[in-house]
Amino acid sequence: MIRIALKGPQLLQALFVCMVLTNCANSQSLNLFSPDYDVKLGKQVSAEIASDPKQFPVLPEKGNEEVYRYVRGISKNIVNSGKVKYRDKFAWEVKIIDDDKTLNAFCTPGGYIYVYTGLIKFLDSEDQLAGVLGHEIAHADMRHSTRQLTKVYGISALLELVRKDPNPSTVEQIAFGLLNLKFSRSHEKEADGQSVVYLCNSQYHAAGAAGFFKKMEGKGSNPPEFISTHPNPGNRVEAIEKKAKQLGCSGGKTRQTEYQRIKRLLD
Ligand SMILES: [Zn+2]
Repeated sequence: MIRIALKGPQLLQALFVCMVLTNCANSQSLNLFSPDYDVKLGKQVSAEIASDPKQFPVLPEKGNEEVYRYVRGISKNIVNSGKVKYRDKFAWEVKIIDDDKTLNAFCTPGGYIYVYTGLIKFLDSEDQLAGVLGHEIAHADMRHSTRQLTKVYGISALLELVRKDPNPSTVEQIAFGLLNLKFSRSHEKEADGQSVVYLCNSQYHAAGAAGFFKKMEGKGSNPPEFISTHPNPGNRVEAIEKKAKQLGCSGGKTRQTEYQRIKRLLD
């Protein structure tokens, strides 16, 4: 996903302490941070992204109003599905990154969503993009980054770190570390499933994300960026389609024609 060198020796120290004492948290659901912390981290990370246009060339709003309105509309449909826990607390802001070579999207803690033009151009229909956005929104809404931080750095080490230095520079250091974190396979599975839950409560074909993974499988030996930041939990397509069936999702909209029209605006 994002490559920024881990700064803040304290974090490395914390990790070391955690490894030596083997008192790292191992519960997937444990989260030492409050949702307010996710909000703070999101602000920090999004500011970091805005200040690095070389790595993150944000597509200008001017001249791309229609594409922005369209992608934000999809995100809004998901956020308003009634199934997003932090709908009113997190930012849920969408930015498009002008990079045709990257087939990826990501969402920071606290709901700052980034979609690459490469991903928009790669997909075929609106439900597929909705499925991927649902997956990203789920990572933020289920607070996977701070859960992962809790797990990697260990509870006592993190408590110590925040106790010693409860000021914004600590947040900054954690944010830097966060940019290098990969989600775990179980978080991937969870985000896939939650994407179906969101879309099931919308007008979309609920297994939209499966369409994306099917297309990626077709890319064979040249897997897109998405795989490196979202480890493959295996049988994704099957699991997503099964979940949609189990939930009895009835919405079937793929909006292919409109999607193709929007794609052409990016050419
Ligand atoms: Zn993921």
